[in-house]
Amino acid sequence: MTMSGPTTPDPHVFCDLLLRWYDQNARDLPWRGDAVTPYETLVSEVMLQQTRVETVRPKYAAFLSRFPTVEALATAPIDDVLALWSGLGYYSRARNLHAAANQIVDAGEFPNDVAGLRALKGVGVYIAGAVGSIALGLPVPAVDGNLERVLARLVCSPGGRPQMTAVAEALIAGCPSRAGDINQALMDLGSTVCKPRGPQCPACPLEGICVAGAAPDPTLWPEKKVRRKAPARTAVAGVMFNQAGSLLVARRPASGLFGGLFELPGLLLPKNATTRPGPGILASAWLDRLGVEVDVGVGHGTVTHTLTHMRLTLHVFEIIGEAPPEPQSFYDRLRWAPIDEVDEMGISTLTRKALSLLERGPQQQLFRAPGPR
Ligand code: SF4
Repeated sequence: MTMSGPTTPDPHVFCDLLLRWYDQNARDLPWRGDAVTPYETLVSEVMLQQTRVETVRPKYAAFLSRFPTVEALATAPIDDVLALWSGLGYYSRARNLHAAANQIVDAGEFPNDVAGLRALKGVGVYIAGAVGSIALGLPVPAVDGNLERVLARLVCSPGGRPQMTAVAEALIAGCPSRAGDINQALMDLGSTVCKPRGPQCPACPLEGICVAGAAPDPTLWPEKKVRRKAPARTAVAGVMFNQAGSLLVARRPASGLFGGLFELPGLLLPKNATTRPGPGILASAWLDRLGVEVDVGVGHGTVTHTLTHMRLTLHVFEIIGEAPPEPQSFYDRLRWAPIDEVDEMGISTLTRKALSLLERGPQQQLFRAPGPR
């Protein structure tokens, strides 16, 4: 038996309908327009991966104000880059973007083809397609989850990234000189009209050529993916102030979870840990990671945060003891800073939530009371 792929509409008709709509309805976004440089497009596309447009808007402006050129980004300390990324999450994107900026500066020019873009750290198929088509005018698709949904409905397919990328390639052949606009038009259509739930087919420029649009329930396409619930993990962290009222924060290793970000020193308990997060665990973590024996005092409270791959519950406690010396093994840098300054550093949303507990002061006497200081 031979399998045939989905039947795509006439590419010229598709391009004509979509571009006419886009020319009238394109969203006004700061990373669009003739004055936007390829570097700025790269920054925007990296930020937009996994993050909503409205969250990215102010971050994009602040980032480019601090790093207006690829050279400015390449020469900046990574701590400054992570601080500007704060609130966007997925911090490996910031580290990769910083590394990519260095690659571009070392090469002496911005890449001019997809292979060159793909060679940049952190640039996968989607970002290469988006930057290649939008900034460089290359006739290439840029299919993310949003476009995958629109295209799967257009051709009534179960979906799948490779299959929908092939559909996009076939459609872009109808107007290769405007591939960037086609990609951006599909992004806008997916965000404003062909939404995951409740697609507004009567308002859609593709209604006349869309197979799912003619069906009673277009949301049957693409096939729903079964999502597994992210596993729950527990963490503990300690709060130590010095006499000047500055808070101790420590920088995590560059790679791995929250890589390169500052946090309240502590520990993520192992998967399936059965032990309750007690004072012994936190005290051991401070001894292992900071080289000091401390007492664990009152609890400041608990915060939760959900990442794509885990649901974190962080218990925050006061720490009593001598200030740690230089980092021992796990952390690579220690800093003392007032809380409002810590808030401006490269910290995760989880740590930011933990800091908010400190504004309320200790909440519960969870552990033994500290001895005399
Ligand atoms: S006609 Fe409906 S299902 Fe088809 S692309 Fe437009 S909004 Fe989506």
